[in-house]
Amino acid sequence: MTFGVEQAKRWISKFNDKIQEQKEYLTELDQAIGDGDHGLNMARGVQEAVNKITPVDYGELGSLFKDVGMTLIAKVGGASGPLYGTVFMKASLALKDKKEVDGKELVEALAASLDGLKARGKAQVGDKTMIDVWEPVIELLRNSQAIQLEQLLSVSKEKMEYTKELEAKKGRAAYLGKRSIGHIDPGAASSYLLFASLAEVFAEGESVS
Ligand code: ADP
Ligand code: MG
Repeated sequence: MTFGVEQAKRWISKFNDKIQEQKEYLTELDQAIGDGDHGLNMARGVQEAVNKITPVDYGELGSLFKDVGMTLIAKVGGASGPLYGTVFMKASLALKDKKEVDGKELVEALAASLDGLKARGKAQVGDKTMIDVWEPVIELLRNSQAIQLEQLLSVSKEKMEYTKELEAKKGRAAYLGKRSIGHIDPGAASSYLLFASLAEVFAEGESVS
């Protein structure tokens, strides 16, 4: 599996398609335990990121992800804007000057993104945030010899759904305490869409080679 500029563009574009499709659903999730802006915020920001990167002829991955990160920071807002911004800024640093990378290098870049997320948000697994999807997914990817698409999809979905059982300890939902139990975390849901999009890009790569 090689991951280059074309794959990175497809990843963000697929993520955007899913976010636009699920905008109302993400809004509903955030209405239940937050302020209801997650769907709109993400829909606006990720669309802007696609608009920004689509016409540019990038020579390497670092500058592409930097544009995505900067756009998300500028356009998403809320808690998730800086958090998703951090994801792509960290990946940008890890992939600076790389035209294309193999699966292992990509996973290490995403592991740097997770470290950045945790440093920024100070959340841990179990706090009912996007970290509840990110950490087990990165662990899975790191421990697999080759990226297992089905597993990537099923683990990210399962972990997203499991946030329903948890009481929020970080972010706006934490104000609800136990009343946050019974609802899926919106940021975990959007992170699932991010990894589902990545799985689709990997699947295309496999069918080509
Ligand atoms: P806001 O809460 O400012 O309205 P959003 O609605 O855009 O922001 O995003 C909410 C999501 O952000 C949550 O569902 C959660 O996944 C994530 N989140 C909030 N705070 C943190 C944190 N400290 N660490 C990790 N993720 C967080
Ligand atoms: Mg919100």
